[in-house]
Amino acid sequence: MIISVASGKGGTGKTLIATSLALALKDKENVTLLDCDVEEPNDHIYMKPESSTSDPVSIAVPFVDESKCTGCGVCGDVCVFNAIAVVNKKVLIFNELCHGCGACSYLCPSGAISEVPHEVGVLEEGKVEGMRFFDGVLTIGQPMAPPIIRAVREKGDSVGITIVDASPGTSCPVVEAIRESDFCVLVTEPTPFGLNDLRLAVETVRALGIAHGAIINRAGVGDDRTEEFCKSAGIPILMTIPLDERIARTYSRGTPLIEALPEYRPQVLEMYDRIREMVNERSSST
Ligand code: SF4
Ligand code: SF4
Repeated sequence: MIISVASGKGGTGKTLIATSLALALKDKENVTLLDCDVEEPNDHIYMKPESSTSDPVSIAVPFVDESKCTGCGVCGDVCVFNAIAVVNKKVLIFNELCHGCGACSYLCPSGAISEVPHEVGVLEEGKVEGMRFFDGVLTIGQPMAPPIIRAVREKGDSVGITIVDASPGTSCPVVEAIRESDFCVLVTEPTPFGLNDLRLAVETVRALGIAHGAIINRAGVGDDRTEEFCKSAGIPILMTIPLDERIARTYSRGTPLIEALPEYRPQVLEMYDRIREMVNERSSST
């Protein structure tokens, strides 16, 4: 089962939940934790993985053999990402914009374009008390997060429980991280911004057909409109975490929530049981 943890905005406590869920389950399930928030992967701060290894992640970008190029301009015309242009019969390539789709090399009439690897980040692997842990780190200045997220996601375990910590928001990296999930936990906070971004996140998971539920973090900081929205939209509230200074302190010290405050462990396990029930119900009705 793949459980992703997402949020419409940053700073809602997504990492807190993903790491707590992984740690709470590690003694009863075969757990793999994937940190797909590749622009700012933070799970390692809380998990402190041992024996970490790092492998480059690359995409294939075009390379032009000038001796074969006629300057026809076909490559520039087919690239919808403006990653290749032909100016005065000279080909200019912008690797940072290239999505590695291969269209230019496939359609070049002179066979002048080959593909070469271009590193966009790294995939890191480590162990946390028997749990498998992976994260991706996007190279600074690179805009292409999805290839790294894909590389991290491929490390998911098809038999045990895979927990995916997605990046915040609702753009391509989030879709790439959560799209094969059996369930998505949406972490939010009861503020107008939190509610607005929760609505967007709900639209995204519904468009992808993923079962979902919400966690309201820092309950008490705003009003009850987020809770009312969840009820009216039929979104189960999986957990409510109060605004608690101890949690903020724990978080700033890099200590996982359920290790610093073990009273949250039963709630996290109860949440997992509800998620498993909902996933099982859904699969038996399809
Ligand atoms: S399509 Fe091929 S031949 Fe035409 S400009 Fe591009 S690289 Fe040169
Ligand atoms: S591989 Fe695709 S995205 Fe990259 S330059 Fe060629 S056509 Fe554009």
